[in-house]
Amino acid sequence: MLEFMMKASVGDMVFGEDPAVNELETMAADMFGMEAAIYCPSGTMTNQIAIKAHTRPGDEVICSRMAHIYQFEGGGVAFNSGASVALIDSDNGTFTAEDVKQHINNPEDWHKAYTRLVEVENTVNRGAGSCWDFGELKRIRELCDSRSLGYHLDGARLFNAMAVDGRSAAEYGALFDSISICLSKGLGAPVGSLLIGKREIIRQGMRIRKVFGGAMRQAGYIAAAGIYALKNNVSRLPDDHRNAAALAEALRESSLTESVNYGGTNIVIFTLKPGMTAAEYLEKIKPHGILALKTGERSIRMVTHLDVNDGQIKKACEILATL
Ligand SMILES: *Cc1c(COP(=O)(O)O)cnc(C)c1O
Repeated sequence: MLEFMMKASVGDMVFGEDPAVNELETMAADMFGMEAAIYCPSGTMTNQIAIKAHTRPGDEVICSRMAHIYQFEGGGVAFNSGASVALIDSDNGTFTAEDVKQHINNPEDWHKAYTRLVEVENTVNRGAGSCWDFGELKRIRELCDSRSLGYHLDGARLFNAMAVDGRSAAEYGALFDSISICLSKGLGAPVGSLLIGKREIIRQGMRIRKVFGGAMRQAGYIAAAGIYALKNNVSRLPDDHRNAAALAEALRESSLTESVNYGGTNIVIFTLKPGMTAAEYLEKIKPHGILALKTGERSIRMVTHLDVNDGQIKKACEILATL
């Protein structure tokens, strides 16, 4: 990837003159069968651009209470778009068209915010990498059509979901008005995300990207990493899933574990029995070279990715299972 990046031909992206950025954007739009795409520094930015393009101040966005856009983007929905959220509760961050229906405000009722956008996340980060049922996503599309709502997909890990549900990028592209994908997670690029969507959303998105400070100059070197990632690092994602499943299994065997939540992709979230805090557990595994993220007083998230190989996972499993 680094060698490929070094060979990129670059220009001024702000003027649309960076060949590598243009190639990456065209490649992504074609892959999803959507009209256009824009390259941005982060997935937070692509989500926030989409939300701003879909809404006006005072509008409301329907999403899961677990949603990254609500939990982990610094209150950006309110800060950037002046919009509020209607939150749907569920165990793993997925929900149904019926749930959405319950949260749509009557536009004739002036006490209520205008419901404007439905946002889903696939896979669900805080739902331990759980995947959506594609049929349910379709039913929500139909509901959005009948109620004139926008439909945005936070697909930071969409390729992980596609590796499980067998759907193509084009099938996802046909369903949503806008899709955000991260190149910097399981796909292994050092930086970068793409917002892919309908022409009008992306046209507005280009202006918003500029306002947000995301219109970069010679970004081709990092965009090249994205091209490399899409070409080379998608087909290996099932390896990460197999490794995460092994970790989940090992954690279930450990006497310290209370429960394990594994959504079938590359994320495992587990809870410790009372008696040890997440911070203490992390200190315990660190000397073994195992690093993880505290997600609560007694809960921890582990993620597998292309920099962790089978041998390392095997070793980690042996250590974790006997803790
Ligand atoms: C990581 C992530 C993002 C974007 O995060 P950045 O760090 O800003 O690139 C968005 N949504 C989900 C579900 C994520 O996991």
